[in-house]
Amino acid sequence: MSTRKLFDVVVVGGGAVGASAAAALAQSGFDVALVEPDAPTASAEDAPLDARVIALSPASVRFVERIGAWPLPARRAFAYRDMDVRSGDESLHFGRALVAEAALGWIVELRALQARLFDVARSRVAAVHAARVAACERGEREARVELDDGTRLRARLVVSAEGGRSSLREAAGIEVDARDYRCRAIVAHLTTQQPNPGIAFQRFLKGGPLAFLPIDGGRSSLVWTRPTAEVDGLLALDDAAFCTAVSEAASSRFGRVLAATARVAFPLRLQLAERVHAERLVLLGDTAHVVHPLAGLGLNLGLIDAAALVDVLVDARERERDLGSLATLSRFDSWRRSDAHAAARAIDAIERGFGGELGRVGEWLSRGLGLVDALAPAKRFFAAAACGDIGRVPSLARR
Ligand SMILES: Cc1cc2nc3c(=O)[nH]c(=O)nc-3n(C[C@H](O)[C@H](O)[C@H](O)COP(=O)(O)OP(=O)(O)OC[C@H]3O[C@@H](n4cnc5c(N)ncnc54)[C@H](O)[C@@H]3O)c2cc1C
Repeated sequence: MSTRKLFDVVVVGGGAVGASAAAALAQSGFDVALVEPDAPTASAEDAPLDARVIALSPASVRFVERIGAWPLPARRAFAYRDMDVRSGDESLHFGRALVAEAALGWIVELRALQARLFDVARSRVAAVHAARVAACERGEREARVELDDGTRLRARLVVSAEGGRSSLREAAGIEVDARDYRCRAIVAHLTTQQPNPGIAFQRFLKGGPLAFLPIDGGRSSLVWTRPTAEVDGLLALDDAAFCTAVSEAASSRFGRVLAATARVAFPLRLQLAERVHAERLVLLGDTAHVVHPLAGLGLNLGLIDAAALVDVLVDARERERDLGSLATLSRFDSWRRSDAHAAARAIDAIERGFGGELGRVGEWLSRGLGLVDALAPAKRFFAAAACGDIGRVPSLARR
């Protein structure tokens, strides 16, 4: 099937980033088509919480709310009000009062968020195609996208939100700067002796950080980064031995770990696209940047990309400029690439420093934690960054 219609934007990839971009652009009056082969679906109402939960910043939640995809069901999203970061004997603690927000952030089930965003996008965009992109030709006036079911689409602009492996990014010859952390993040939900009262707790350990994120019933969601060589051994432990290993690593925060759900592990890497635009093509979310999860920023950066693209395209429309021209898209690139890369490099430096790779730098960082805790302006700065107030915040995510 081929379409004579010229869309403003074809969004390729309907994960949280692509779906939010499609929904927000359609809400702003653009004519949008969305291409996603595996539409996400929500779990049954009484299904247990999925293993994959992520931390969303207040700025991301404002964006998701403004496009009509918030709140999520109460069983799938949990506010946290305090953050507690430790390294050795030093600690940094801050609460929502410091940033005048209702919460420091929310821990949400990724699947529930993806499903809600996709439903909102589906209800708003002009066309949804359950297919993969097979080819894309980008010309001076328009782009032509061919899907693997034979459909052909024409658009002024193609958005790639295909995740870390993007066929469109590769076809455009955009290189990535990648670093394999040689670590995997072990994820499971934990029941502890003392219930987690709503604190996002992170402890930096040699070999990788360990985080307890507050979820339902006083439980915590564990994100524990370990060198790849150790991970299979940890996954193979029986439940009691695994709980003991986590209890020892967490140094009794919330008491002993009493029970853990099935464990899943994710390989970790840093991957930054050398640029996030080409003529008639823009890269969003993990297609543009994959970061270490220690700061809980990956998806937050992607959602802010989506909100920023709306600002750039609305401005281009008001000035009667071509939506897919290099001039329009280079504005997006210089905004989002610099903000996202700055965040990614800072996270990478923290990973290297605390992980032991930079020798004495780790000790200085640990002492720095205590120092930041003692200095109100520095503490406010870090708290604001954790809330998503970093770089230039797009209109849909502003307070
Ligand atoms: C252990 C771990 C913990 C994390 N914790 C956090 C956290 O606390 N906070 C946070 O913000 N982030 C976190 N992240 C990062 C976050 O999970 C990702 O950044 C985010 O899910 C990426 O979303 P995306 O929409 O860019 O990509 P994806 O979710 O990968 O979506 C890409 C979509 O594109 C589709 N697609 C791919 N190729 C094609 C094609 N050729 N044609 C059509 N469609 C295609 C796919 O089907 C998929 O639906 C964490 C990551 C890990 C590994």
